[in-house]
Amino acid sequence: MEIFDQIYIGGGWVDSSSSEVIEVENPATEEIVRTVPAGTREDVLKAVASAKSAFESWQFSTVGERKELLTRISAGIARRSDELATAISVEVGSPVRIAGPIQAGLPKTVVDSYATLLDSFEFEHKVGNSLVVREAAGVVGAITPWNYPLHQIVCKVAPALAAGCTVVLKPSELAPTVAYLFADILHEAGVPAGVFNLVSGHGAAVGEAIAGHPDLDLVSFTGSVNVGKRVGELAAANITRSALELGGKSASVVLPDADLAKAVKVSVHNAFLNGGQTCMAWTRMLVHADQYDEAIEIAASVAALYQPGDPLDPATRLGPMSSAAQRGRVETLLGVALDEGARVVAGGPGRPADQARGHYVSATVLADVRPDSTIAQEEVFGPVLSMIAYDDEEDALRIANNSAYGLAGAVWSADERRAIDFARRVRTGQMDVNGGRFNPIAPFGGYKKSGTGRELGAAGLEEFLETKAIQL
Ligand code: NAD
Repeated sequence: MEIFDQIYIGGGWVDSSSSEVIEVENPATEEIVRTVPAGTREDVLKAVASAKSAFESWQFSTVGERKELLTRISAGIARRSDELATAISVEVGSPVRIAGPIQAGLPKTVVDSYATLLDSFEFEHKVGNSLVVREAAGVVGAITPWNYPLHQIVCKVAPALAAGCTVVLKPSELAPTVAYLFADILHEAGVPAGVFNLVSGHGAAVGEAIAGHPDLDLVSFTGSVNVGKRVGELAAANITRSALELGGKSASVVLPDADLAKAVKVSVHNAFLNGGQTCMAWTRMLVHADQYDEAIEIAASVAALYQPGDPLDPATRLGPMSSAAQRGRVETLLGVALDEGARVVAGGPGRPADQARGHYVSATVLADVRPDSTIAQEEVFGPVLSMIAYDDEEDALRIANNSAYGLAGAVWSADERRAIDFARRVRTGQMDVNGGRFNPIAPFGGYKKSGTGRELGAAGLEEFLETKAIQL
């Protein structure tokens, strides 16, 4: 078992004020694989003081210095990408086949994108007799989840550094190792003391101490709606800005003229990526009533590819759920779905037959799902796809928009203009037309309960800036 016994404050590894630890489990084997310090409020006070003092000079660092730092961080991620990917497979249960390219590869791309953006981003412009300057927002508290643990960290830390902000990070207690490796990478890259600080710990202690700290200028949170609400309230009490990246219940809408087989196949793969533990997953598939039975057959055949297995086996597409709690949530919601009339066409509740241990569930496709039912409304965060039939395009739009969330979505049609028109009418932060691929420099974030604020690209950098007008 690996032991991380310190936290990173003021440019070095230091002891937490408490000797308590958090045990980190491998969800495939249910064995404890690491421990990290269960940090405290006192640790957060130290980390924020360190970030505040470092801000005095880092805010005036040159764009060139920030770019060089990001470039060295990118090289560090590349050098240690296998180690990062394996840590995520072991703690989250992400199959290695996606952990390499997505869990470790995407964060490098994001860091690179901010190094590049710094060449062209206009931090100043003139309007009338004013010079408008975009300055570093200040000291940032970053609180992140476990599902894409390095990506979520990098989506905050890279633009924060690019903006001239300093950071106190609390990673998820379920998958903290990448945060430790990332701190090492930053240290080796020469991040100035206090510019980046890491306090591991539980949400109730460390998370709340960060969100409610009066010296923070911005709290950037990614996670669930309930915790996001609490974080937003704590920040608001100090008039601290908060950026909240929350859950989703996105719809993939297959219009009748679309390539049905392609649309259904891609949508199922999307829904089951990372065991369905993806905030932007298309967990509802909307298909015209006339094509519904055919779509169900195709979906069930794709689901059969997702046999649960060891995440470290390169052939595995579906690892375990990240925790016992997550598995329990999936099972509970599947039970409710069946009570409310859904029909299992692939997978279903219960432990998969060939998995004696580990938090495994089966990749499940549900048919006859009513748009108002619990399974169509609640974020499951597991490999559960709800197939919903619609009557006509207006009906499809109503169902797509019948959600408290608005994070992502897709539309499929032989007529691109028709698809784009449809995409414009869906109340959601992202829409993919005919499988348009993920763009790491496009704004990412939610409408409605999916959150406030945007990450990635220039919009992501702007989250970490303040605006000043200097009249001349
Ligand atoms: P979570 O809300 O349980 O935890 C997120 C983080 O908040 C963790 O670090 C946790 O320790 C911390 N936390 C818990 N209680 C806290 C409190 N009272 N105060 C402050 N911090 C606290 O979420 P999770 O289970 O880690 O992640 C899954 C959720 O994240 C899903 O809802 C998913 O949709 C969402 N998510 C959203 C995005 C996005 O970009 N929109 C991306 C990934 C995940």
